[in-house]
Amino acid sequence: MPNMSALNPLTKEKEFGGVPGAFAITTGLPTLIVALYFLCNDSYVIDGSSIDLEALKSQFFKIDWVKDAFFNNSVWNFYLSWFFGLLALDLVTPGQYMEGITLRDGTKLGYKINGLNFISILSVSMIIRLYLNKGYSPELEFIYENFLELAVVSIIFSALLATFVFICSYIPLRSLNGLKTKERILSINGNSESGFYNWFIGRELNPRIGPVDIKLFCELKPGLLLWLAINFSCIHHQYWNSGTVCDALLLVNFLQLFYIFDGVLNEAGVLSMMDITTDGFGFMLAFGDLSLVPFTYCLQSRYLSLKPIHLGAATDVAILALMFFGYYVFHQSNQQKSDWKLGKLDGKNYKFIKTKTGTKLLCDGWWGLSQHTNYFGDWLISWSWCFSTGFNTPLTYYYVAYFGGLLLHRQQRDEAKCSVKYGEKWDEYKRRVPYKIIPYVY
Ligand code: NDP
Repeated sequence: MPNMSALNPLTKEKEFGGVPGAFAITTGLPTLIVALYFLCNDSYVIDGSSIDLEALKSQFFKIDWVKDAFFNNSVWNFYLSWFFGLLALDLVTPGQYMEGITLRDGTKLGYKINGLNFISILSVSMIIRLYLNKGYSPELEFIYENFLELAVVSIIFSALLATFVFICSYIPLRSLNGLKTKERILSINGNSESGFYNWFIGRELNPRIGPVDIKLFCELKPGLLLWLAINFSCIHHQYWNSGTVCDALLLVNFLQLFYIFDGVLNEAGVLSMMDITTDGFGFMLAFGDLSLVPFTYCLQSRYLSLKPIHLGAATDVAILALMFFGYYVFHQSNQQKSDWKLGKLDGKNYKFIKTKTGTKLLCDGWWGLSQHTNYFGDWLISWSWCFSTGFNTPLTYYYVAYFGGLLLHRQQRDEAKCSVKYGEKWDEYKRRVPYKIIPYVY
């Protein structure tokens, strides 16, 4: 039963195609992870543009992989130690306290921002461990050898976590003396009449257990860092098997390490992103953060660990230039919006539209070039990762297509939100800034 109150209105418009769309994503994207593995593993790597269907069928219909993945104790131990180990580290790592945006009940949640300390502790422990083991890491080799099993376990774990927060969203918040203190704030999108849809999209906006904000933790730590660990495992595997590592694999590792560290270190910026401010935490975000990101974003590294490519210095530099140009656009535009919202920029030097909510929509600088120049920069970055794998297969380019689709869909969701929030002022903004993502193109 949906909760209906002034604070938590009933969700009438369902996103992602409603219940059928949510069902398709819940079943389709985990299948994609498994399919990408079968197209790129030790016994078969897609090369050229044709697929060897016989090779695929013989792998896929081996029932062992399902059994191995579902009931593998060592993989479960590893994954649970990873998730809860990072959670424990997050709890004890000091950081600065920051407030998030004002919520619908007028309150603000506090967050501990400890990305820099967290990454430093983790990196130093990993370097010491590698040093003591003379460069060999049994953990990285375990990740490489059990990739499919870990992916399946992470999918099951995401579904369990989504179920857990869904159940918790029905338990009223209570103070220590047992009195009901305040209603849980549900996501504007996750309070429909369909329980399945609410489970998928996320019913509660900011599920927390004690000091742990489950959404922020999952968004930045276990998934992003597992992606990094998988990338490292590819270098590690290639080195210990061939005594060398190809430049393309080193390059893509460097590019993605930079991107991941930037994400984790920009923890404060995430607090104003749609995922934190608008979306509830359900299967969509749990699966996206914990499974889809680590197990598909590493595809370029996985491919290069199996099919080493020598790109040469000139190509390396060209790809680096593309990545850092994309990063410049992505970072500067996000920074400009953040500075604008915090009142750090002088309104006299920028064109803007004042809305009835008091928000000033910037129509200058990066935000005068297109409505989401930041998405364009992010998309350029994704091209640089794909180019690192050369042109022997379209498989690794799956990422630019997927990410382009994600950003396009995100732009549409944001447009729908801003259209309701800002009304005719948003229409005026669209007239003054007609391009949606790519300046002068789209
Ligand atoms: P944006 O940073 O584009 O933020 C959109 C919001 O900003 C709007 O809802 C509105 O919010 C405000 N806004 C929009 N236009 C203006 C304007 N002209 N002036 C002032 N405020 C404006 O979107 P996201 O939060 O989706 O993305 C943030 C970053 O995260 C992007 O760089 C994106 O590329 C990246 N990203 C990366 C992903 C990945 O998997 N790698 C996934 C998703 C995002 P308000 O209501 O506050 O006015």
